[in-house]
Amino acid sequence: MIGKLYVVATPIGNLDDITLRAIKVLKDVDIIAAEDTRHTLKLLNSLEISKPLISYYKENEKTKSDIIIKKLKDGKNIAIVSDAGTPGISDPGEEVIKKAIEENIEIIPIPGACAAINALITSGFSTKEFVFIGFLSAKANEKRAKLKEIKYETRTLIIYEAPHKLETTLKDMLNILGDRNVSIAREITKIHEEFIRGKLSEVINKIEYRGECVIIIEGSSISKEDLNIENLCALSLEKHYEYYEKQGLDKKDIIKQIAKDRKVNKNEIYKEFLGK
Ligand code: SAM
Repeated sequence: MIGKLYVVATPIGNLDDITLRAIKVLKDVDIIAAEDTRHTLKLLNSLEISKPLISYYKENEKTKSDIIIKKLKDGKNIAIVSDAGTPGISDPGEEVIKKAIEENIEIIPIPGACAAINALITSGFSTKEFVFIGFLSAKANEKRAKLKEIKYETRTLIIYEAPHKLETTLKDMLNILGDRNVSIAREITKIHEEFIRGKLSEVINKIEYRGECVIIIEGSSISKEDLNIENLCALSLEKHYEYYEKQGLDKKDIIKQIAKDRKVNKNEIYKEFLGK
């Protein structure tokens, strides 16, 4: 019989955050695939669990996935864990899960801690819709390009950052996104857990640049669409008309749209284009 693949979340700091089900699964499986076996060994020792471990990290994800799939096909039940939190979230996991799906192997999530979600829910920003960005590129130009890309994102943004890059990243954010409201969740579930909230310009000066952290940024109050409308309204009426004409709208719809963009009565616009 084919084995099952368990995707097990582990604590992001406080070891008490392991779930009863995670402990049971880690005890029951045949093998544990870990991002860093030494790291996972500490957790397993604290739970008095002894299991064969396979190392499974980003750089060897592809080859190790094949080995894991083979063992699952041989009937072994396997749990994958990352160093902290939920596997696959800015951590290895995606590759083996894709392959397991292709091979019709059953995948069972064992839910638990995730830094992104805990930083989001304590931010005070909208949790209705949010965008998980994960780590920004380590290359300055790529990082700035990404920030420009998300500048008009109206949903709450979740970004992971390493402590030594935090200051530069916050400064880049201030320059590119403007002085937005942010909430920085530092050392979640650990002794020095802290939430630093305020405008980017204030937070940059008061934060200590150490410890793990998640940056939550309030969504933009202006969407790309609003910006486009703002730009269109800055044009002459003729150019505004031409813009929608090029999009294939007929005269009636163009006038309706221009009136909506400029927040005026459509008769006013209609008069301007009488006889045209
Ligand atoms: N898979 C993990 C999860 O579910 O959250 C994320 C792993 S990612 C490699 C590590 C990043 O997650 C850190 O750089 C930091 O941004 C964030 N992180 C992890 N643990 C954290 C904690 N206790 N407090 C704040 N941020 C944390």
